[in-house]
Amino acid sequence: MIKENIESILSALPSTTRLIAVSKTKPVENIQEAYDCGQHMFGENKALEMRDKHEVLPNDIAWHFIGHLQTNKIKYIISYVTLIHSIDTLNLLQAVNHEAAKHGRIVDCLLQFHVAAEETKFGLTLDEGQRLLESDEYQAMNNIRIVGVMGMATNTTDQHRVRDDFRAIRQRFDYLKEHYFRQEASFKEISMGMSHDYAIAVDEGSTLIRIGSAIFGERNYNIPVND
Ligand SMILES: *Cc1c(COP(=O)(O)O)cnc(C)c1O
Repeated sequence: MIKENIESILSALPSTTRLIAVSKTKPVENIQEAYDCGQHMFGENKALEMRDKHEVLPNDIAWHFIGHLQTNKIKYIISYVTLIHSIDTLNLLQAVNHEAAKHGRIVDCLLQFHVAAEETKFGLTLDEGQRLLESDEYQAMNNIRIVGVMGMATNTTDQHRVRDDFRAIRQRFDYLKEHYFRQEASFKEISMGMSHDYAIAVDEGSTLIRIGSAIFGERNYNIPVND
């Protein structure tokens, strides 16, 4: 099942879009199965869950942190995480920079933008993103690198709204590229698209899709997880 699901998703992806298999709440056996099919990028949204899985799985897995990150949990992922998708405050970015320095790493991060209709979702406004990038604190950071943006569309069956949201995320990317990262070839990632809406996200320029249930099946949140 996992193999067929991955193959079917990959078969429809342009070469410019990569697949992150979102394995949150799923057992390591599922991740190993996907890994054995050649899938080496995985996404988790809880620091301790990611740590526990990282400890027992192959060490060439690229671990993507996609959830809300608490500053006191950074230490559980900082030595190996490939990309943190969910930077939504200057304070969090400073804390990541501080922890990364302890390990002599430069950790890649995305700025998470809020465009969806739901109020509960995390993320910056364009204004807040600009203020972050123009701050003295950001200018002084040597152990993080911002390589793009991340966002989520409104959870709705209205395809027009979903497309508009992905366009808005894409516009955030284009604006920041133009004004802050024009010389930076590494600023190139647009992380958007989940199981139910990734086709539209890809259409609107996503470079990283984050797919969970369409690969591993529905999640059961009644099983307690370590956070
Ligand atoms: C869980 C999650 C996903 C994957 O969701 P699916 O609908 O299962 O594909 C993608 N992005 C984020 C931020 C998530 O928390």
